[in-house]
Amino acid sequence: MPALPAFARYVVIGAGIHGLSTAMHLAQKLKAKGVSVGEGRGRIVVLDKTGPGAGASGIACGVVRNNYFQPAMRELMAHSVSVWESDPDAYSYHPVGYMQISPEVMHAQVGTIYEQQQAIGYESVFIEGEAESRQYMQGIFHDWQAQNITSVLHEKRGGYANNQASVQGLVNKARALGVEIVAGVAVTGFRSGNGTGAIAAVETTQGPIECEEVVVAVGPWVNSIWNMLDLPKAISVTGRDGKVHDGVRMWHYMALQEGTLGVDPNYQKTNSGLMPPVIHVDTDAPLFSDRDGRLITDALWGIYYKPDFHFGGVQGGAMPAVVERDPDDVRVDPYGPKSPEFVVTDNFADMWTSALAFCQKRFEGKHGVYKQEPSGGVGSFTPDNFPVFDRFRDNVYVIADSNHGYKMIGVGELVADELLGTPRTLLEPFRFSRYAQGRLHPVSHSPFPWS
Ligand SMILES: Cc1cc2nc3c(=O)[nH]c(=O)nc-3n(C[C@H](O)[C@H](O)[C@H](O)COP(=O)(O)OP(=O)(O)OC[C@H]3O[C@@H](n4cnc5c(N)ncnc54)[C@H](O)[C@@H]3O)c2cc1C
Repeated sequence: MPALPAFARYVVIGAGIHGLSTAMHLAQKLKAKGVSVGEGRGRIVVLDKTGPGAGASGIACGVVRNNYFQPAMRELMAHSVSVWESDPDAYSYHPVGYMQISPEVMHAQVGTIYEQQQAIGYESVFIEGEAESRQYMQGIFHDWQAQNITSVLHEKRGGYANNQASVQGLVNKARALGVEIVAGVAVTGFRSGNGTGAIAAVETTQGPIECEEVVVAVGPWVNSIWNMLDLPKAISVTGRDGKVHDGVRMWHYMALQEGTLGVDPNYQKTNSGLMPPVIHVDTDAPLFSDRDGRLITDALWGIYYKPDFHFGGVQGGAMPAVVERDPDDVRVDPYGPKSPEFVVTDNFADMWTSALAFCQKRFEGKHGVYKQEPSGGVGSFTPDNFPVFDRFRDNVYVIADSNHGYKMIGVGELVADELLGTPRTLLEPFRFSRYAQGRLHPVSHSPFPWS
């Protein structure tokens, strides 16, 4: 890895999906303008305290979908899906499609998603009715048996990508364009310019690096960098009721619950012998344990899963667990499966394997092959659980995806344009000012905070 330079025009903090995508697209765009990348005003340096893929991007399940109830999210995802599709090999992207399988309480809302997908030219099929949904699903999986399902949205685009491989794909592309990626350097603070709020230098464990622009793309560590930038720990949010709610925490944490069933990934093939779409099921049917028959829940619940050779089985997850703690007290390090507290428990394994058996007969009695290894990871969320993409302190661009942004590989392309002075309308609905102005995204009936 190269040594830390004394100056870079752009310092990108974090070598995850967003930092790397931003750096790569910035390099591409500078080159197109005739700027020599790697020197002077074309110098782009990505710093990571550990290395590429050390954060959420490196452990993500990797699901890529359009299915969002919020129109602005859908348009943003359609843009990102086209970036995944632009080089599936380099990004290790599997365009198998995605299915949102829902109960009646979500039927109408998912119907609007389908209508708007048609309006933006995003290919999908919408099946309505209990018998019709079962027939459609059994046409794909003969053993489909999920209950209380009255609609199926089948997105023909999207699918999933392999987490570390896609990060490496971005590293290769960025390096080939002249981006420097420096691992093992932690950002510890910021130095302001003379009498302005703008950042003149980034302080690191290997000394300062002067810069003109800073990009913050640190995923679950955003609270610590936010504090270093002296940005507000609590904000005022104008709610949907028109009332101003003061003192709302800027960041809160949830623990993502994921795991792998240790079967041959081919076990989950479709009736026609193909790799299936990613499956996401929400339902209000009661869920009973496949182990001992006990009632697990009779409230709305959901899971997602896909066969994945990289994880070595059928991999997926369920709703995240809220971390009821002040963000300053959340120990993000050691991250992911190495965390002593934010890995899944046996309760998750029971719930998720039972839910698999609820959906498909082939998973009945398979809880014993659930991989008993640490999995999951903590994520940081904004007040409304949707991303913030905005400038702070004049020259600091924060990319905070509210922990559902592995799929948002295209955000870096949009941010690169904004860094070069061209505003992108797809990012407008994600400005920080929406909280004060009450321009919040609509909320769906899904049991997940990111749908
Ligand atoms: C278990 C799990 C499953 C997920 N599944 C999906 C999914 O299926 N689909 C989806 O779209 N999203 C998913 N997500 C969310 C997604 O992974 C994240 O939203 C996304 O990867 C965040 O990317 P990032 O580039 O912002 O941050 P990260 O990938 O977390 O990268 C941040 C980097 O910043 C570095 N860093 C932190 N602090 C400093 C510092 N002070 N100095 C220098 N470097 C620093 C870290 O070392 C890290 O490498 C999942 C998340 C988790 C935890």
